Amino acid sequence: MPEPITLDTRIDELYKYNIARLGETLSRKLAQALASYAGKKSAGEANVEDLLSYLPMRYEDRSNLARIRDLQEGMEASLELYAKLAGGYQVGKKRGYGQPKLFIFEVTATDKEKTGRPVVVWWFVSGAHAHDIVNYYTKRLSRGARFITFGRWEWDDRRGTYALRLNKPGDELELLPAPRQGEVETRRGGEDKNEIEENPSTDDESDDPVLAAVHAGRRVPVYRKLGTFTSKRLREIVHGVLQLISDQNIKETLPADLRQRQRLIPRSNAFRQIHFPAEDASLAQYEQARSPAHLRLIFEDFFWLALGIGLKRGQRTKEHKGAKITIDASVKESIRSLLPFKLTNAQRGVVRQIFADMTSDAPMNRLLQGDVGSGKTIVALIAMLAAMENGYQIALMAPTEILAEQHSRNIKRLLAKTPHRVELLTGSLRAAEKRRLQADLAAGNISACIGTHALVQESVSFSKLGLVVIDEQHRFGVMQRAELRARGFNPDVLVMTATPIPRSLAMTVYGDLDVSVIDEMPPGRTPVETLVFGEDQRQEVKQLIRREARAGRQVYVVYPLVEESEKTDLRDATQRFEYLRDVVFPKFTVGLVHGRMKPAEKDEVMRRFLACEVQILVSTTVIEVGVDVPNASLMIVEHAERFGLSQLHQLRGRVGRGAEKSYCVLLTSDKRTSVAAERLGIMAQTSDGFVIAEKDLELRGAGELLGTRQSGLPEFRIGNLLRDQQILEQARKEVDFYLTTRAKSVETAKMIKRVKAEARFGLAAVG
Ligand code: ADP
Ligand code: MG
Repeated sequence: MPEPITLDTRIDELYKYNIARLGETLSRKLAQALASYAGKKSAGEANVEDLLSYLPMRYEDRSNLARIRDLQEGMEASLELYAKLAGGYQVGKKRGYGQPKLFIFEVTATDKEKTGRPVVVWWFVSGAHAHDIVNYYTKRLSRGARFITFGRWEWDDRRGTYALRLNKPGDELELLPAPRQGEVETRRGGEDKNEIEENPSTDDESDDPVLAAVHAGRRVPVYRKLGTFTSKRLREIVHGVLQLISDQNIKETLPADLRQRQRLIPRSNAFRQIHFPAEDASLAQYEQARSPAHLRLIFEDFFWLALGIGLKRGQRTKEHKGAKITIDASVKESIRSLLPFKLTNAQRGVVRQIFADMTSDAPMNRLLQGDVGSGKTIVALIAMLAAMENGYQIALMAPTEILAEQHSRNIKRLLAKTPHRVELLTGSLRAAEKRRLQADLAAGNISACIGTHALVQESVSFSKLGLVVIDEQHRFGVMQRAELRARGFNPDVLVMTATPIPRSLAMTVYGDLDVSVIDEMPPGRTPVETLVFGEDQRQEVKQLIRREARAGRQVYVVYPLVEESEKTDLRDATQRFEYLRDVVFPKFTVGLVHGRMKPAEKDEVMRRFLACEVQILVSTTVIEVGVDVPNASLMIVEHAERFGLSQLHQLRGRVGRGAEKSYCVLLTSDKRTSVAAERLGIMAQTSDGFVIAEKDLELRGAGELLGTRQSGLPEFRIGNLLRDQQILEQARKEVDFYLTTRAKSVETAKMIKRVKAEARFGLAAVG
């Protein structure tokens, strides 16, 4: 007998337990799929905890299945059906040469009571193997085949009955063994010949009544397909594991008194119930992720993250920075003399907070948040000046070369009359030039070094680095600080972002940063008018462009550029540029800028655009962040539906920077699909970056919004930052309690040990 199953049992060893006919090969496949889902390095690391953390996407109540005669228009229901007739027919015969064939597969079926009209379940089959797939289903769904299917039933006039269209038949239709009277055979032999090798795109044919009982006559979880494992297979496996694992082996991780305060159920119950809700549980709660099982697991998810962040923060406030900064009357005076305009109240308040940080003993770690165009740059510049006046060097990092160049131009101009030397250091400098600058930097002959984040990655050394400013943080990682420290600096760090992060999220993601907000726009702005146009309105767009350019103002025309189709996207933008330049607007100067151009070329185009020598700038998203040309009053975004909302907001922020009324036209070919219309409609309705970010968070999740992949923010397994803000708040309060009142307790020590052991929190380096 193998060891009892625990949460640490390896998935690739599950075959030893005779679970759901899972053999050696399939155990290994499942381990691989889970490891890649859970972000683990190898299949061998996937364990039962990962499996149990793979949560159902929804639940189906199969304890009382609907009958055909209960069906109503638009009703969502599961039905247990018996196939009468199944087959595929080809549609769209006139599809172009070389186009794969398209079939409709259709099953006519009755229910057990055989009352009412047979219903139709159908779906599309396409692709290179369409023929085989159709044959496969025809065989599987032969007359009498029993299956359960779930979805939204609609009356179909042509067919004269209720019909259900499936998107993924592999997930939404489950074959059950045909009932065999009086036969209760238990077969749990795990020999390999009983193992089902699954066809990746299809379901298996289970004829094991013990397993079949898992799928019908009860509430069942429905999972997203994992690798080649269908929802049905996963259900069998999870069910089998939960039967074998004892409560003691699902170890509790939260202290009993915490659980009592927060009314959280034990971990073992949570893992069991989240997969198989009890007969009397409210499925509505489950659907909203508000069941006791969800609440427990979500809380735990946030708790460990909050604890990790709390530890990082505690660590930093104990550090001492190298730089000693004083801000006296003379420093203030030299700053004042350089300011090109009067600061807004919001800017002044933030400067005060930054000065307080800079003059304190612990290193500054501040996030400066302000909507696009709120004037963050000048605030950063003031901080930089304060550091330089104290004799320290500063580094300013921007996410793109264009932005680094723009910063460098502006700062050089502002500091022209001061002794501070400002240099631009980008990856594209010639080697000799780079070496010379690096030497000067190391010798302390350069005060301000501006560049892309290559600045940190390359072997740059400073002699007295006092302040690092990171512009447009959401394109960056939160890890830079650690990187800097690893290289022997512990400077003040100021991070700027236009991504208006909801408060709860900011506290979590940037929990070890202090947050300042600029919530006021500089005076004299007129709001940007946003228009959503379809393809048929191109003439109007041309007229708009002509009108603005004639009036001496400037225009951006932006094309999406996504990695997967980079080549064609770039070709589109380039062709469009040539067409606009040669055919449509021969009287105006049209420029082109994209990421693949040489930095010097890019810089030249941007310089000419800024100097108004170029009136119409065709570009890819390289101008998305930070670019500041106040005379630009019109932005056209092509294929607007391909952008995220926050990205559109950033883009739109390039206009409306001057006193002239500005416009942003979102051009889309699928204006008529409701999703696109709704999303783009939000842009037309509001210019509030906060509202837009919340929508974006709702539509796309936090990972997208913050660029999780780069940001080092752990993905939550269960928690959802938007939906679960309150739980997050509670988790943070508990963490505070353990890190302060109970700091010295054994419990706290145990919890800290646990959180450090979890690779996904990236805390290994925290001492
Ligand atoms: P962002 O916060 O998006 O980085 P910028 O710092 O680029 O915004 O500022 C946007 C524009 O507003 C710039 O042209 C800048 O010169 C101008 N600006 C910033 N602060 C003020 C102010 N207090 N008064 C007038 N104009 C300002
Ligand atoms: Mg900016």
